[in-house]
Amino acid sequence: MVKNLFMVKSLNSKIKSIKAREILNSRGEPTVEVELKTDDGIFVASVPSGASIGENEAKELRDGGKKYFGKGVLKAVGNINKIIGPRIKGKNPAKQKEIDELMIKLDGTKDKSKLGANAILPVSMAVCRAGAASKDLSLYKYISQIYRGSPPVNLTLMVPTPCFNIINGGTHAGNKLDIQEFMIVPQKKLFSENLRAASEIYQGLKKILKNNFGEQAINVGDEGGFAPPISHASEALNLISQALKNYPDTKIGLDCAASQYWKDKKYQLEGAVFTKEGLLIFYEDLIKKYPIIFLEDPFSENDWQGFQEITKKLSNKIIIVGDDLLCTNPRRIKEAEKKNACRGAIIKPNQIGTITETIEAVKLAKSFNWKIIISHRSGDTCDDFISDLAVGVGADFIKSGAPARGERLAKYNRLLKIEEEIKS
Ligand code: PEP
Ligand code: MG
Repeated sequence: MVKNLFMVKSLNSKIKSIKAREILNSRGEPTVEVELKTDDGIFVASVPSGASIGENEAKELRDGGKKYFGKGVLKAVGNINKIIGPRIKGKNPAKQKEIDELMIKLDGTKDKSKLGANAILPVSMAVCRAGAASKDLSLYKYISQIYRGSPPVNLTLMVPTPCFNIINGGTHAGNKLDIQEFMIVPQKKLFSENLRAASEIYQGLKKILKNNFGEQAINVGDEGGFAPPISHASEALNLISQALKNYPDTKIGLDCAASQYWKDKKYQLEGAVFTKEGLLIFYEDLIKKYPIIFLEDPFSENDWQGFQEITKKLSNKIIIVGDDLLCTNPRRIKEAEKKNACRGAIIKPNQIGTITETIEAVKLAKSFNWKIIISHRSGDTCDDFISDLAVGVGADFIKSGAPARGERLAKYNRLLKIEEEIKS
């Protein structure tokens, strides 16, 4: 009886209305939130924003002018309320691909610059949530169904390994560290155990920093990791190594975000100028000394040769991951595979702009046997969509910053709930 009711609900669910508004993200800058109403309820989604943005990312639409120093998003909000909304009203939210393709067509540009990726993505996310509800499925199960193209019968879903960014540098912090993210990657079996280990390590590091540098060292950067007054990667890694004393199996991941230190056609970091070969030796030295398992964006986004060299030399030891290199873009992912430029992909929905294309990017990267890291952005909201996405597509890792600050914990706490549900 109940099942029949759900079936009727699923067949008849329709988008009744859609309303967008300007809200603020974790950096205190404007972003877009959407409320989408269907027969099954109201579904809310909001989008994040990066600081180290890849050249090939889908474009956010910003208003310009004086308000919010040009960063307002009322044009994107208007595009949802006046252009996208009327066109998707009445549609079945379970038709994710059809709705995403309609928005791509309405935009008509290669990089979503007309309507704005920040207009298209929150609608796509809200539609996905509504689609899941129309099928009476948890979001991660519904995404898994879309990903596999089949109903979720006897699924063995896994919660990915979390990567916690506990020391912030680069464009995310007001210190002199050039490498952007120093992540710890605990190796316990359960997500809940990894979260606990990360929290303990984070609190331990806080004490170490305070003892070494005083109170100012425990201020945090954009992703909730500490931003101590240090300037060398080896200093950060030595401090982290001290914090890992009682957690010997914990690994380390680095997001170099090297496009940020590619200046005047040279790699400039830690007060020195590096050639490509010199930078490769610098990384080799770090991976010899510390338990590093992946390097994200070790070279600048258009330095294919640098990526090729490091993949050739080090990918038997660590995973070379592309973020700015790939921008969750199938064209770039294919090119990177052809050039053997990396073995892992950062996946950020707002780099490409729809959920359908995000899932396609994961499929493509996985078809090359690459590792998948689903990622937040440095300016984020408390939306926890990426947690369900990571489980639904069977990602290997997820990164959502430190085990601190609300917008970061929203994702980790959602994964705790998903793990509980999967276990039971
Ligand atoms: C990243 O570079 O992986 C990242 C999360 O930072 P941002 O959002 O600033 O691009
Ligand atoms: Mg990155």
